[in-house]
Amino acid sequence: MSFKTLNLSKKLLTTLKNIGYTTPTEIQEKSIPLLLKGKDILATSQTGTGKTASFVLPLLDNLEESDRIKTGDERYKVDALILAPTRELVLQIHEKIESYGQNFSHSSVALYGGIKLGSQVSAIRSGANIAVGTTARVLDHVKNGSLNLSALKIIILDEADKMLEMGFIDEIRKIIGQLPKERHSVMFSATFPKPIMSLAKSFLNNPITVEIDKENLSAQQVTQHIHLVKEEEKMPQLAKNIIENQWEQVLVFVNTKLQADKIVEHLKNKKVKALAIHGDKSQGMRVDALEKFKKKNITVLVATDVAARGIDIINLPHVINFELPFKNEDYIHRIGRTGRAGKEGEALSLVSSKELAQLKEIEELINKKLEIIDKQESQTEESQKPSNRKSRKAERKSGVDLKKAKALAEKMMGKEGLKEISKHKNKKPAGQKPSNKRHF
Ligand code: AMP
Repeated sequence: MSFKTLNLSKKLLTTLKNIGYTTPTEIQEKSIPLLLKGKDILATSQTGTGKTASFVLPLLDNLEESDRIKTGDERYKVDALILAPTRELVLQIHEKIESYGQNFSHSSVALYGGIKLGSQVSAIRSGANIAVGTTARVLDHVKNGSLNLSALKIIILDEADKMLEMGFIDEIRKIIGQLPKERHSVMFSATFPKPIMSLAKSFLNNPITVEIDKENLSAQQVTQHIHLVKEEEKMPQLAKNIIENQWEQVLVFVNTKLQADKIVEHLKNKKVKALAIHGDKSQGMRVDALEKFKKKNITVLVATDVAARGIDIINLPHVINFELPFKNEDYIHRIGRTGRAGKEGEALSLVSSKELAQLKEIEELINKKLEIIDKQESQTEESQKPSNRKSRKAERKSGVDLKKAKALAEKMMGKEGLKEISKHKNKKPAGQKPSNKRHF
């Protein structure tokens, strides 16, 4: 299928051709025609699947272009609002609007905290008709009188489940309270827990559900591996992987800010250039770290899940899960940072004995057995021998079961380590814990 069949304007088709998009992704194929017709949708799509373009392209076509200069209070009215959970994601969406909208007279403003309201107020006043923002900053502008949502035509909630998880539901409801009843409403969410469904019910009008194949959820272009590692060996193993393989651009995921900082320290001691992004870093520091990472001025970026939301680097080759995420779904988000838009990527997870039960849950979620690589074997020439390649191939074909994982774990960690696994079996796995805002 080509973009031509989706009914997008000629202007957009030219832009897409110029930026090198030839074929719509699945979510684009399904969402764009519905959104062009003004239908409310509830869409499930992960990052990395092209979801931003799936709502930005029809938005650009649907909004009326106007050269009329706004005056008085009209200057604070915008036609469209996109809400996203993090500053990084807000900036990423804003940049995409500017890129896809280069032949339109639409103008976008990014509204996020950590900087003064002033420059954002000026951008709104000087004619922005699309606002992209975090909930708190949007409300700041509404209270300040510098943003008026009473004439809004289109509202889009991106990564709604993340916004709810981060505790923004009251802010979302306050913002919805400011909107006209007659409007076009769109909601994207990776998961659909009860609170999301209840928000969708009150927010959307006769929505059409748009889903993409579960297979596509765990990016098919991503080779996924597991290294079984003792907890205390994770740090040296991480450094070893990066140094010995001479990886140049690696995104490492952790669950806590503390862990992120520790890893950066460890890597710096090993002469690997690394920076961290997490909730304790100022906006300036986060943007700076991201820029340095994109330009390959640093090798490693260590990130918590929420801070990594907006990271969009084409062709990012390596993602490492230093630990499995608090929430199983975040595994999909994490590995989605590589193998983006048709490019190949590799995701490696360092898994300790206490995480094996959760690993099994993740495998069920993505409907795929993950290949466990014996860490010693993977680092030596042994792995290059044809006989080993052959057995790997057979292994991939058959998948790896938990028995094998346990046998390997026993080999590496001894029986004591394995006792921990059976203890864990009866416990609620870490992935089921409600996420805790403090961690980010
Ligand atoms: P997203 O899921 O929106 O974060 O997009 C993931 C990446 O795919 C971004 O780098 C986009 O620029 C890119 N992308 C989106 N749609 C397409 C497409 N149809 N063809 C090629 N690349 C795309």
